[in-house]
Amino acid sequence: MSERPRLRIGFLYPDVMNLYGDRGNAVAIVRRCRARGIEAEVVPIGLGDEVRREELDLLLIGGGQDREQRRVAPDLQEKGRAIRAAVDDGMPVLAVCGGFQLFGHRYVDHTGDVLPGIGVFDMETRHPGPRADRCIGDVLVQSPFGELVGFENHGGRTYLAPGQEPLGRVVRGYGNNGEDGTEGARRGNAIGTYLHGSLLPKNPALADALILAALRRRYGDSAELPPLDDRYERLAHEAAAAVARERARRR
Ligand code: GLN
Repeated sequence: MSERPRLRIGFLYPDVMNLYGDRGNAVAIVRRCRARGIEAEVVPIGLGDEVRREELDLLLIGGGQDREQRRVAPDLQEKGRAIRAAVDDGMPVLAVCGGFQLFGHRYVDHTGDVLPGIGVFDMETRHPGPRADRCIGDVLVQSPFGELVGFENHGGRTYLAPGQEPLGRVVRGYGNNGEDGTEGARRGNAIGTYLHGSLLPKNPALADALILAALRRRYGDSAELPPLDDRYERLAHEAAAAVARERARRR
């Protein structure tokens, strides 16, 4: 009998970059793997730890305020080459908000300081300063993974370079910058987004797309994911989407 498939999920800076329950993304992936008989293990990758891309199947990073981003940015530079190589090699990634910003070329923070990013996505982010309005609220996005719903809270405005694909189009909320209708970014199986929530528990199609990409990279293109009973995930999605529609209507 063949062995059970096994996935290792790297979680970058789980103790520093974990705003608004972003840790729930790891929980959702592990749960959806185990429900299908796939063994899943979360590997914390902290400051000073090496990214061993051949041992990892999926990479997560959550959000953090400017202060936390300052703490991790120099260390992330050290990991940049391995992470870019992993993305080029098809590894699925989910980078949220403060983590997403550092996956672009640079983040100019609220004081005007430049934090270098690792350039996974062709984009840059600028914070217009402490007096500018923040982009806060519920977000609905139309994406190749269907409708995504989440919560955003960021001061930085992200601008994609021409040719950089967004994750999707904003239906409600601000998204990357509140101006051009884009939300997030996508390169290969790497996804960046402003959506917290946590995102994956109430967007199971996106969770499964990441898991399937990880499985195929490790075990070959014939790997499939049997469907799960998504009743509660769908209810959570619908409830959050209804709130997003209602709040945006009143704004
Ligand atoms: N510090 C960033 C900003 O405000 C990111 C915040 C976050 O991760 N929610 O733009």
